[in-house]
Amino acid sequence: MQLYIYNTLTRQKEEFIPLMEDPNYKGPKKDFVGMYSCWPTVYRDPSIGNYRATFTADLIRNTLKLLGYNVQAVMNITDVGHLVSDADDGEDKLEKWAKREGITAREVAQKYEKIFKEGMKLLHIDEFNVMPRATEHIEEQIALVKTLEEKWYTYTVEWDGIYMDTSKVENYGELMWPNYKKRLADLNAGERVEMGGKKHPTDFALRKFAPENEKRQMERDSPWGRGFPGWHIECSAMSSKYLWHQFDIHHGGADHITIHHPNEIAQSECGFDVHPRVKYRIHNEFLQVDGGKMSKSLGNVYNLKDIEAKGFSPLDLRYFYFMAQYSNFQNFTWDQLEAAKNTRHSLIKKLQWKKTIQDKKDFESDPLFQQIMEAICDNMNTPKLLAAVQWALNTATETTYAIITWLEDNFLKLWLFETIVEEKFDIPAEVIAFADQRVEAKKSKDFALADELRSKITELWFQVKDTKDSYEISKL
Ligand code: AMP
Ligand code: ZN
Repeated sequence: MQLYIYNTLTRQKEEFIPLMEDPNYKGPKKDFVGMYSCWPTVYRDPSIGNYRATFTADLIRNTLKLLGYNVQAVMNITDVGHLVSDADDGEDKLEKWAKREGITAREVAQKYEKIFKEGMKLLHIDEFNVMPRATEHIEEQIALVKTLEEKWYTYTVEWDGIYMDTSKVENYGELMWPNYKKRLADLNAGERVEMGGKKHPTDFALRKFAPENEKRQMERDSPWGRGFPGWHIECSAMSSKYLWHQFDIHHGGADHITIHHPNEIAQSECGFDVHPRVKYRIHNEFLQVDGGKMSKSLGNVYNLKDIEAKGFSPLDLRYFYFMAQYSNFQNFTWDQLEAAKNTRHSLIKKLQWKKTIQDKKDFESDPLFQQIMEAICDNMNTPKLLAAVQWALNTATETTYAIITWLEDNFLKLWLFETIVEEKFDIPAEVIAFADQRVEAKKSKDFALADELRSKITELWFQVKDTKDSYEISKL
C-alpha cells in the first residue's frame, strides 16, 4: 500500500517515494530509507512531551518497516554543552546542571542518556540503529565549519564565535513557510532579536569561542582555538556521516521548524552542495497539559516517574500517544491517561488467550488488514487504526485475532496479549450492600429493583456479574 506523509517542506500530504526509488535523485545508490531524529540535550529527565517526539520517531520507523523498507534510523544524543536559550548566548545547559547536581558535565550527560534509554525501553521503543553522541563527532563538526569557512559563508565575531552568514544562503528559512519571507522581513525590520556582533538577525553560531575569563568543562581545541560547537552543527555532521549528504526523512518536534531545522538546512546545503538536503521533513506537534503549555512554573512537566507514581504503566502512556495523530496537538490530562489505561485493559481482557499466529499472506486481503494499513498509510493516522481494531473485536474471528497479533508484535507493542493480573481494590461497603439487596430483589422477582440496584453500583464505578450461587464485583 502507498504511504502518504505530511511534508513540512511543502505543507502537503505527499506520496512517500524513497530516494532509492526516486528517478530525480542523483546521489550514490542507497539500499535503505534513511531517517534522522533530533533529540534534546541529555541534562534532565525527559518529559512526556519529549517522549512524544521519541514515540513519533519510532512510529515512522515502524511504519516504514511494516511497508517492507530496510530502515536506517539515527537519533542523536546531544551530550555536549549547548546554551540555555535558542539564541547563541546564555549559560551552557550541561554545565549549569553539573553545578546544581555537584557532578561533572560528562557525568550529567551519562546519567541522563541512561535515563532516556531506560525510558525508551519502558515505552517499548527499540533503540535506533545509530545513536551517535555529539562529543564523539567533534572532528566531523569542525570539518563542516571549515568547509563553510572556505566557501565564504562564515564570519568571525571577535571574542564570540564563527557565525553563518544567512544572507548568503539562497532561500534561507524556506521551511518556515508559508510566510517565511514576511517573517524574515519582520526580523530584519527590527523585531527584537539579541544581535551581539551578528550581521543579520537570522545568522547563527557554528562554533563558539571559549570565554577568556571562564573555564568550561566541555570545550575542545580546534583550528580556531578552544571552544565548543554551535547547537545546530552536530545534526548536520552526524546525519551526513551515517545517512549521506542527502537522505529521506528528517524528523523533530514542531518547535524546530523556525530555528534549528532552517539552520541545519542552510549549513548542510551550503556545506555539502546538495538540494534538497532531505526529501521529507516530518514534525510532531506538541503535547500540551490541561490545554496549555507544559511549564516548570505550572509544575506540570511530567516524566515517566510521575506516571508510574500514579499507578500507570508506561504502556498506558504509549496507548495514550496512539490516541492522537502525531501531527496534531495532543492534550494530556490525568483523566485522559486513565481513559487510555481503561481502554488498553479492556482490550487486554478481550484478547486474553487469543494470540494467533498466521502467515501474513493469509490475511492480507482481509478487510481489517486493509483498514489498518489504510489508517497507517494515511499519514500514520493512529486514532483511525485504534478505531478499526476496536470495531473488529465486536465480531472477532480467528483471522481478526491473527491480524491483531501481527499488529501488536510489529507496531502496537502494548502487551495486549498479556494476562491481566487484576488490581487489588477495596469494594466499598455501599456497593456490597447494593449487591446483597439485588440478590434479594431477584429472589423475590422484583427485576425493576434489581436493575435499579445494578445502576446504582455502576454509578459508583463498579460492576456486578451474576455467578451460579452469588455474584462477583469488579471495577468498571
Ligand atoms: P526541550 O528539552 O524542552 O528543549 O525539548 C527538546 C525537544 O523535545 C524539543 O525540541 C521538541 O522537539 C521535543 N519536545 C519538547 N517538549 C515537547 C512537547 N511538549 N511535545 C512534543 N515534543 C516536545
Ligand atoms: Zn537536530
